[in-house]
Amino acid sequence: MADDVLKKVLVEPGDKAGLAKRSPTEDFGWDKESAKAETIKLLAKVDALQTRLAAERSRGLLFVIQAMDAAGKDGTIRSMHAGLNPAGVHVHGFKAPAGRETGMDFLWRIHEVCPARGEIGIFNRSHYEDVLVVRVKNFVPRSVWSKRYEHIRNFEKLLAAEGTRIVKVHLQISKEEQRLRLQDRIDDPTEQWKFRLGDLDDRKLWPQFMRAYEDAITETSTAYAPWYIVPGDRKWVRNLVVARLLVATLEDMNPQFPPPDESLKGLQVV
Ligand code: ADP
Repeated sequence: MADDVLKKVLVEPGDKAGLAKRSPTEDFGWDKESAKAETIKLLAKVDALQTRLAAERSRGLLFVIQAMDAAGKDGTIRSMHAGLNPAGVHVHGFKAPAGRETGMDFLWRIHEVCPARGEIGIFNRSHYEDVLVVRVKNFVPRSVWSKRYEHIRNFEKLLAAEGTRIVKVHLQISKEEQRLRLQDRIDDPTEQWKFRLGDLDDRKLWPQFMRAYEDAITETSTAYAPWYIVPGDRKWVRNLVVARLLVATLEDMNPQFPPPDESLKGLQVV
């Protein structure tokens, strides 16, 4: 994909994520009004591409969105939807495992909700929680989580080989921007529903989370399932980068309508 900005935000397979060297306030020299206008224009292209993906019915597209609290996962997904046909897209949010999930391997609940051929799937959090929060909070020993990078690479390789295009997005926000957004959630009664006291516990573990993100992204950015680290402090920058990524990915997939069905030739509807 020939987009310079997408090249900048891509973590080349084999490279380190380099989170500390990337800036969540990066704006690529864009200005807010034209960035918003470009986002709308770009997303208008998605509908036709998505229709072809559905008609072709041979490949799916999976967008994984993974980030700290208040980094804008929901807002990003909402922005993407300006261009998507809701009938062909499924959004899945992953909370702490419950019920049967707790007795199964960590990929079990993920696999069954991956997009089918012709569909687009968006994950709000994902199997990466099992090498992020699970690692940081010692929910399982190192001997267990450290093997999961390989399991994830193999799992994603399987999905890719069977026809799923995978794009992984880390929305990177600064600790200060998170402070402002969490404070807003506390102060504004219409935002309070988004706030959990546990968010503050996770915030205290910020350096540990950053190390876990650095390792997870470094270990699992592959040619078949690359990571993109999207600057998240400015919502209009984030939305434009993600719109570019969505459109560029669909254009690169270049889905096609199936060839005309010969058996329908000349058929008249009476
Ligand atoms: P949001 O994604 O909007 O923040 P919640 O506030 O309900 O939604 O947060 C979901 C919580 O579930 C997060 O704290 C996340 O770390 C946790 N979670 C998700 N997957 C797992 C997992 N596999 N193991 C443990 N916790 C998880």
